[in-house]
Amino acid sequence: MARPSPLEIYALLDKSNCKDCGYDTCMAFATDTLERKVKAQDCPHLMQDPKQSKNREKLIKLLTPPQKPVTIGIGERAVTIGGEEVLMRHQLTFYNQTALFVEIADDDPDLGDLVKYLSELKIERMGDVLTLNGIALRNVSGDRDQFKLAAKKLTELSNLPVMLCSFNTEILLAAAEEIKDKKPLLYAVTKNTWEQIGKFAIQNNLPVVIVSSNLDELMSLSATMQKYGVKEIVLDSGTYFGPGNLSVTYDNIMQLRTGAINKEDVNACWPVMGVPAAYWNQVKIGDEKELWEHQYQEVIMGAVMESIDINLIVLHTGQKKEEIWALLALMTLRQSLFSDPRIYPAVDAGIYKIGEPDDMAPIFVTSNYRMTKIPVEQDLQGANQNCWLLVVDTEGIGIESAVAGGQFSAGGIAEAVKEFKVFDNVKHRVLVLPGMAARLSGALEDEADAFVVVGPRDSSGILKFMDTQWKPEEFMKEYESWEK
Ligand code: SF4
Repeated sequence: MARPSPLEIYALLDKSNCKDCGYDTCMAFATDTLERKVKAQDCPHLMQDPKQSKNREKLIKLLTPPQKPVTIGIGERAVTIGGEEVLMRHQLTFYNQTALFVEIADDDPDLGDLVKYLSELKIERMGDVLTLNGIALRNVSGDRDQFKLAAKKLTELSNLPVMLCSFNTEILLAAAEEIKDKKPLLYAVTKNTWEQIGKFAIQNNLPVVIVSSNLDELMSLSATMQKYGVKEIVLDSGTYFGPGNLSVTYDNIMQLRTGAINKEDVNACWPVMGVPAAYWNQVKIGDEKELWEHQYQEVIMGAVMESIDINLIVLHTGQKKEEIWALLALMTLRQSLFSDPRIYPAVDAGIYKIGEPDDMAPIFVTSNYRMTKIPVEQDLQGANQNCWLLVVDTEGIGIESAVAGGQFSAGGIAEAVKEFKVFDNVKHRVLVLPGMAARLSGALEDEADAFVVVGPRDSSGILKFMDTQWKPEEFMKEYESWEK
């Protein structure tokens, strides 16, 4: 489906430029609907004026992505999955990253501790905070009351979204009744259970997962559930391990995604999920392999799924603190895959204080490429340096390329020194230039009226540089001798 243009959207708006939505013009509003910064529903005229009802319907339809979004949970940690417009990230961008859910058994004696650990898990990386998105509660006990009790306890301890997993409809719906106000995802609708689960989902406005390894059956169940009135659906075509099965799993997911995004198949137009945790039910765990070798297979499946923009995965490994490596691998891969390729990863230019710098503390200079500024800052903090970091606007380009392209230049650095009043913070005029920009040092001394010392090529060498080369009093003596 071709993306609508801002003009097509504008044509359906009121065109009065009344500013009630917070935008100066209807055209500005139209442009931001495409970026999903606002929704059609944010224009009060479109929503309230009965004469505009036809345009309203047309606009909502025009702005609905070919793969519909589904929201699980409530409150600040509710997660929206799907809603994608393209098959490949480079064609535009992916909007909603793969949601990571970790499974917990309803009869696990450590349920409370696990829930607390998973809910509080936060990893800071490159300026982002990486977290999990939900917990999949499995009915392992086979007991209705146990499942109900575990669901209740889970939602009392955590605000993470919940997926309730049971192939026993009576047990599934008993737990769902207990926590229906938390908008859990119900797993699973099959050809035998669709009617009962569908009815409950419609009454309580809950999302459901339809499961079938047969894609024709999956599409037929999707059609049935939509006709029945279910509003939010997730598709699971199965996750299969063993020789040849990775390609089956991959092909099924891609067929569903292609059906939704390229073919606008109304039955496939929903988020797709996978269950790498299925490894533990499908593979015989013997003594011939170490535990980590098994866990690694699960993580590889998760990584393959993330790389083709699957919308949700359920993991078993990662449940415990000692398995953090599995989550680190999948969360960092996800962070890279779901960055927006249209945006240069830049941070704000400026002067950043690190630690408690005194008036002879060094001033390090770097670019505003996010992957440069953040590691440099972290290396300085890790080396317990009290210093200043001058971040120069290089249009989000790294130092080596920016030196070659002219974005990191003596003139540009001197302007930043002036703009951010860098030398007001210290009693010296020394700048530490990154080793990769050494050739700018002479020109920078002239442009910024400063003594320039060339630092390490890599910020991991800062500690050694400070021990062996940072001699501000000597630098200043030399600088003052030039003045004479
Ligand atoms: S509220 Fe609606 S009509 Fe008014 S400026 Fe915004 S988009 Fe245009």
